[in-house]
Amino acid sequence: MSDISIRYQTGEPQNLEKRFAARAAEMLPSEIRSLFAVASRPEIVSLAGGMPNLSALPMEMMAEVIKELILTNGSEALQYGSGQGHPKLREQICDVMALEGIRANPDDVVITTGSQQALDLISRIFIDPGDVVLVEAPSYVGALGTFRQYEASVVHVEMDNDGLVPDSLRAAIKSVRATGRKIKFLYLIPNYQNPTGVCLPADRRTEILSICRAEEIFVVEDNPYGLLGFDKPSPNAMRAEDSENVIYLGSFSKTIAPGLRVGWALVPQSLKDKLVISSESSILCPSNFTQLTISSYLADQPWRDQIASFCELYKVRRDAMLESLEQHFPAEAKWTKPGGGFYVWVNLPAEIDTKALMPKAIVAKVAYVPGSAFYADGLGSWSMRLSYCHPTPERIREGVKALGGVIKQEMSRRGTALT
Ligand code: PMP
Repeated sequence: MSDISIRYQTGEPQNLEKRFAARAAEMLPSEIRSLFAVASRPEIVSLAGGMPNLSALPMEMMAEVIKELILTNGSEALQYGSGQGHPKLREQICDVMALEGIRANPDDVVITTGSQQALDLISRIFIDPGDVVLVEAPSYVGALGTFRQYEASVVHVEMDNDGLVPDSLRAAIKSVRATGRKIKFLYLIPNYQNPTGVCLPADRRTEILSICRAEEIFVVEDNPYGLLGFDKPSPNAMRAEDSENVIYLGSFSKTIAPGLRVGWALVPQSLKDKLVISSESSILCPSNFTQLTISSYLADQPWRDQIASFCELYKVRRDAMLESLEQHFPAEAKWTKPGGGFYVWVNLPAEIDTKALMPKAIVAKVAYVPGSAFYADGLGSWSMRLSYCHPTPERIREGVKALGGVIKQEMSRRGTALT
């Protein structure tokens, strides 16, 4: 008799957990995911999620691109495709990456279902339980979740306002190696980092690359925000300087639309086959429909102008957030001043616990992500990530004002100096 029939007979829910594989214990909801339900209520100003703002994307144009694709090439668009991704789009991706100084061969590009899938595949290929992955402190919550599921030991490396600190990287490598553990790769987001918004300068990129080459540690360069610089272009990608030791991840989620779920990995040749085989076992092939939608869009539409429109939209919002932080946050708070991307990172006095403060912020109708979500080791309790990408500038001002009030109130309740 099957378990399902047992359940139907008894009406008792089965405790499936004891039947799961050990790794399922690490499959936990992210803090951001559980916040979404609350943060998406219309009365709340959400400075929490990092959803791209699609109001600048002309929907009639997208509808035309899709209609034309189906009418002229529907039988290919709606068919299975290559596990590595469509050859034409892989060529076009090389043109996109050229904007950040990368010269690549389309044969080394593997198209994935968003760059999140590339993170999963790389983890699957490299990580045995207990292996070390070095990451920035703080780092992208989605990557931390993936590394955790593969039972990696995540070690954070110090950052400052210019991103990852090379000397701290040297020290981290030394202390991990002293424990006899294997370091599989350094994962970093050099441009307008999620969650801090900071951008790694060119000289640090070179120094970090040379440290990792010398130590035989792969660099996983995750770059979804590189083309979203508002004030000046970001430095060349790290992959532009090192084609042997860098695994580069790109995505159309922030420059076109995340719903298409198209990202890619540009990998050293020796890694390509493993990546394709690994991807085929999870998805067979990336969607031909969304790949060809993007391919037609890149071929026929002014995509560089579209990126410029996105930058304009985000810049106005970034400015609104920085101005209102200046106006409404206490003098003890310190925050980053991003030159692009979606995020500002705020450090508060150490006695403020941003996770515990969240219910009060919700009552004041504003949401953010507590800093501890971006650490694998429980740090970040007095920090928060604020994203400016989605609400209107007016709503951003409203939300920052409300949040500043909540923080000041908490500081005076605790007797923290208020200047
Ligand atoms: N990396 C970073 C740093 C991100 O911020 C995100 C999305 N927020 C991703 C990867 C995943 O993006 P996607 O799968 O949509 O390409």
